Amino acid sequence: MKIEVDKGSGFCFGVVEAIRRAEERLLSDKPLFCLGDIVHNNSEVERLRQKGLITISHEQFFTMSDTTVLLRAHGEPPDIYKYAQSHNIKLIDATCPVVLKLQKRILKSYESGIDDNTQLVIYGKKGHAEVNGLVGQTNGEAIVVEGIEDLSQLDFSRPIVLYSQTTKGLEGLHHLTEVLKNKSARVPVKIHDTICRQVANRIPGIKKFAGRFDLVLFVSGKKSSNGKMLFDICSSVNPNTKFISDLNEIDPKWLENIDSVGICGATSTPKKLLEEVADHLIKMENKKKV
Ligand code: SF4
Repeated sequence: MKIEVDKGSGFCFGVVEAIRRAEERLLSDKPLFCLGDIVHNNSEVERLRQKGLITISHEQFFTMSDTTVLLRAHGEPPDIYKYAQSHNIKLIDATCPVVLKLQKRILKSYESGIDDNTQLVIYGKKGHAEVNGLVGQTNGEAIVVEGIEDLSQLDFSRPIVLYSQTTKGLEGLHHLTEVLKNKSARVPVKIHDTICRQVANRIPGIKKFAGRFDLVLFVSGKKSSNGKMLFDICSSVNPNTKFISDLNEIDPKWLENIDSVGICGATSTPKKLLEEVADHLIKMENKKKV
């Protein structure tokens, strides 16, 4: 059976940098706290946990003082920085530069739109860490829309400025833009495509990749937004695409009567895990021969 790992899959630079910052710090100072899972991938979180990285929740963070906390690539809202400052918490800020830039743009738009009653809209996943950080720039006032079904929350007699969570899909944004512009023809609507090209640029490659195999194993943490989006894309090209977070989730029945398997994943999936899935498949195949 032909087994191939997608060369375009693996961590994006934002995640690589956050992990590098964590590991660098852990060489000299242990344990180190990280606000939320450093990446939506259990095996990587566990690997770093063994090196001394302790994941804390936001609730825990707001009870701490006199310590050091790493902020992951997703970014955080301003109240985290304020609390840290007033409680002697040193922050190692590994917010991805792409997210940081987006936070600044949203803050600027928010401040300049207060006078003309502009509605600030974020196309993203409600409750997602990055989205919480973006909404935080607007004093909690930005309206989060996950899709067209959420547009009813908007007032179409007021100007609209929309930004996208970095890991949303381009097709979804284009569709939303079309519907939004039709609905609000009489007011100014500004759409900012702020989708990260580390994700968007993977789409053509992953589409081609998924189409070449009898079975596609898409490996990702269940909480990963771009994982869900890239999985949907693979499934649309190849209906025999299976979502797994761990190699133990592979059902041997999936391998019956097929000649090829492609393995790919999200920007939060380590390449090493994809390679482990490939090795596991080879072992499963070898067992069959015995
Ligand atoms: S997907 Fe893009 S914005 Fe998000 S962490 Fe990676 S590089 Fe940064």
